[in-house]
Amino acid sequence: MTSQTGVRIVRLHDLIVSGDLDDYHLGPPPGARASAVQIDRDVAATSVCVACGQHGQEYRAFHAVRPDLYSYRAFTRCRACGHCEEF
Ligand SMILES: [Zn+2]
Repeated sequence: MTSQTGVRIVRLHDLIVSGDLDDYHLGPPPGARASAVQIDRDVAATSVCVACGQHGQEYRAFHAVRPDLYSYRAFTRCRACGHCEEF
């Protein structure tokens, strides 16, 4: 699906189905500092959707399944069109 601006809309469901998040659980890493998570939440809240221009995005975080691997992926998710973007 493509937005009116020509951006291909990627939804969280697409990332999950593609296997891109196979090695990740939903949520910030266990033990993540609340202040760091809040910074990322604030970044999302002030972001603009590249697909539709909606101001203010939801924050979605994922962390690695492997406990010995510290890997954290943060995404914005648009409330209007569902487009997700990693940051
Ligand atoms: Zn949007």
